[in-house]
Amino acid sequence: MGAMTLLHGSYDYRTALLAILLIGSAALLFCRFVLSRRNRANTSHQLELHFRTMAEAVPEFIWTASPDGAVDYANRKCLDYLGVRSDQLQGARWVALVHPDDFDPCIAKWETALRTGNPYDVQYRLRGKDGTYRSFLVRANPVRDSSGTIITWCGSCTDIEDQKQNQQILEEQILERTTQLAEANQQLQQEMLEKDLARKQLDQQNEKMMKDLEKRSDRATLLAQMGELLQSCISRDEVISVALGFAPKIFPALRGWVALLNPTRSQAEIAGSWNECQIPSTEFDSAACWALRTGHAHLVALRDSTARCSHAEGVNVSYICIPILAQGEALGIVHLQATMAGQLESAELSFKTTFAGQVGLSIANIRLREALRMQSLRDSLTGLYNRRYLEELLEREIRRASRGAYPLGVLMIDLDHFKNFNDTYGHEAGDAILREAGRSLVKSVRAEDFICRFGGEEFVVVLPTANAEASQARAERLRLKIKELTVTDQGRSMGMVTISVGVAVFPDHGDSPNDLMAAADAALYQAKRGGRDQVAVAARKALEEPAMPDAAKSAAS
Ligand code: GH3
Ligand code: MG
Ligand code: MG
Repeated sequence: MGAMTLLHGSYDYRTALLAILLIGSAALLFCRFVLSRRNRANTSHQLELHFRTMAEAVPEFIWTASPDGAVDYANRKCLDYLGVRSDQLQGARWVALVHPDDFDPCIAKWETALRTGNPYDVQYRLRGKDGTYRSFLVRANPVRDSSGTIITWCGSCTDIEDQKQNQQILEEQILERTTQLAEANQQLQQEMLEKDLARKQLDQQNEKMMKDLEKRSDRATLLAQMGELLQSCISRDEVISVALGFAPKIFPALRGWVALLNPTRSQAEIAGSWNECQIPSTEFDSAACWALRTGHAHLVALRDSTARCSHAEGVNVSYICIPILAQGEALGIVHLQATMAGQLESAELSFKTTFAGQVGLSIANIRLREALRMQSLRDSLTGLYNRRYLEELLEREIRRASRGAYPLGVLMIDLDHFKNFNDTYGHEAGDAILREAGRSLVKSVRAEDFICRFGGEEFVVVLPTANAEASQARAERLRLKIKELTVTDQGRSMGMVTISVGVAVFPDHGDSPNDLMAAADAALYQAKRGGRDQVAVAARKALEEPAMPDAAKSAAS
């Protein structure tokens, strides 16, 4: 429709051009006709006829007017459109057919042209015979004689109604399109704004994610470093010290403490804290912690009173207890509390459980190592400490006794005539006697005393803090207890088992493991010589070599 309108418009334009050319030619001819009218009267009629023919041939309205503006000719097309006769248009009658709204500018232009003698063009509407108005482009040119005087006005009216309507439609369409375009543009701008906002939000999220990732990666590195160190720890103290050293680096925005269960698992003892976390007390009942009870991490949100651990009384922030597990067994807990700077996010629970897991693994390793070591220090027949361990423990206990300035008793025990049992009942029966004798010894000493199988049918008992009298009394008790044993072989009693005991005491009989053992051995020899089934105390060093003052001793050494 739009294209058609445009084509239509350009058609009109071409027609108008053609009309102007024709009118121009006609005007020229008419001029020539007017100029030569007087001179060549015989040809005037022919020229006029020529002009009229041309004026009637064009699709435009063609008209002429006298120099003062009175219309004196209009072509047939013009008369047909206006629905008037030629005489009804003469003079200034035509102005009655001009649209009232166009009247003033039309007249003003025409009057200016008459006054100045300049060609003019103007648009106005003319009423047709059907009473409707159509728009016309009206052009008028003065025709002058050789002296320059206007002898006539020659004009044309081109119907531009269709063009105008097309133009209006075009303008409306343009307006509509412009509005649509503006709306689309606005929508696009809105979309761009929204996209921009979404991109910004995405960028922010990305940035946060990158920071989180970096933080997580830093944490993972720290956890890996801690894990490496923990694997090399050789004691629980070392494990705790490493864990407490790394905790504030891995969880800088949280505070907390670590507690380990005691050997009976009834109490949890606080091993240390970080970031100035308040601890409940140095130890608490292990049942006070839900994590220890369930074996799972226990998160308590702020003001949640559902299942608060009783060790967390007075804690007015969110907290989490994570059990330190080793082979499914709880060894303690890692307790973490939220602070102003950091919240407990369940998304980061894995770091906390890994932290506790690494501590647990390390403690489990140490326990395993200790167990292996204990195994290597035990005698397989009786389960008592072996000779290797005796050397180590004597060294340690003498040092401890020396530091604490208390005595230490050593009993060297030998089963009397043991060879006879072996010979009579066999080696296995002899083994049974050794096992029973060991058990009897264990039952007859304090928990803090040590019993070793020294070798063969010989045992050594170490009694920290026991002086000579106490050691001797303990030896007597052991002797009597062993005598009470009834060891059977295939339902038969193998008879009474007796022991001989040599007693030596630190510092009275020696201040080194060798000296003490030698003194105890010498005392044992005495007991054997004395007839067995008896206790002999080593001779006091003081009696053999008079005690020297400390100053003299160090001078001598
Ligand atoms: P005494 O009263 O002088 O100590 O006499 P005894 O027979 O106890 O001493 P002796 O040193 O002559 O014999 C010790 C015996 O202990 C010799 C050895 O066969 C036996 N014996 C050593 N170790 C074991 C063991 O692990 N199992 C058994 N069944 N016997 C052992
Ligand atoms: Mg012996
Ligand atoms: Mg013996």
